[in-house]
Amino acid sequence: MNKHIAQLVQLQGLDLELDKIDNGIRAEQEALAERVQSIADREEAVKELAAAIKEKEKEKKLLEDTMADKQDQVRDRQSKMMRVQTSREQQAILREIEEAKKLVKEHEDHILAIMQEVEKMQARIAEEKNLIAGETTLAAEESKRVRRTVEEITTAKKTKQARRNQEAAQIDAALLRKYEMLRQRRHGIAITNVDQEVCQGCHMKLPPQQYNLLLRGDSIHECPSCQRIVYYRSQQGA
Ligand SMILES: [Zn+2]
Repeated sequence: MNKHIAQLVQLQGLDLELDKIDNGIRAEQEALAERVQSIADREEAVKELAAAIKEKEKEKKLLEDTMADKQDQVRDRQSKMMRVQTSREQQAILREIEEAKKLVKEHEDHILAIMQEVEKMQARIAEEKNLIAGETTLAAEESKRVRRTVEEITTAKKTKQARRNQEAAQIDAALLRKYEMLRQRRHGIAITNVDQEVCQGCHMKLPPQQYNLLLRGDSIHECPSCQRIVYYRSQQGA
């Protein structure tokens, strides 16, 4: 294999390992961030429930006040009943009493429904707070673990990174620049092998003439489709 190609293949191997390390760190941190976000979401839900309960309590208070007025009205009409003479007057007052009692009943039902709703919301708050407590403990433990893991990974990464830089320093500068650019634009794969005339980076066939030159292995080629640096190596032979 061409010396430059061999160097690039080795460098890419190291770079891919470094990419993997970076992805690992990112995954750990993202998972932790998700946990923290989930707690924040629950806390927001608790706040919203508490606000909703406050509104319901206000509504209930208003209903209780109107209900008390209506009850007073019932009592007032009942005592008035004793004093009226004609049945026409009695009928009118009875109707009023009936009307007021009906309203009292409606208010009572409404208040009861609100109380049930509030109870449900309070139960949900308790449940959420319970979950928040558990998740907070877990997140704290997880945060410690992630910090340790990331520290370990970072130390290992430094060693690998130093080796990578040593390797890179030996590579022809122009070729290295081309490699770096290709890595950025081609999802981390700048150099790839060709197997049975097919570029393993983009799976397109190389022109026969270029393929014949590639088989000789003494010059650097790029895939005409994806521009990756290519070299010959059969998967079956490997
Ligand atoms: Zn290609």
